[in-house]
Amino acid sequence: MLTLLCESLIVKAMEKRACKECGQKLAGRKDQKFCSDYCRNTFNNRLNEDATKYIRRINNILRKNRRILAQLNPKGKKTVDGITLAEEGFNFHYYTNMYTTKTGSVYYFCYEQGYIKLDSDKYMLVHKQDYVK
Ligand SMILES: [Zn+2]
Repeated sequence: MLTLLCESLIVKAMEKRACKECGQKLAGRKDQKFCSDYCRNTFNNRLNEDATKYIRRINNILRKNRRILAQLNPKGKKTVDGITLAEEGFNFHYYTNMYTTKTGSVYYFCYEQGYIKLDSDKYMLVHKQDYVK
């Protein structure tokens, strides 16, 4: 009786397992998640595709930020209004790295193009110096 019960539970557990991609019932190993290599690849490719899209979006923002800074600051040092950056479509949320000076001033960089916020919505644009890691 107990054996029968156990067997029926095992059968039930097996019946519940289905391919994560196509839903086909799985009868193989307990840790089997896909019915075939094709389904495993399709499933994983879709996951990676989402990550790739996200990464591409962030990279585009960073490249655009870098381009805006470079265009506004061809000579290596220039002060601009925040509104100018905003009008160009600069996204202040994204940067590649920060640099804090000994006196606590914080520079933000998009690759080799950087800026520091001054008073009254002014920004000083700079190019990356050798001392910035
Ligand atoms: Zn499948």
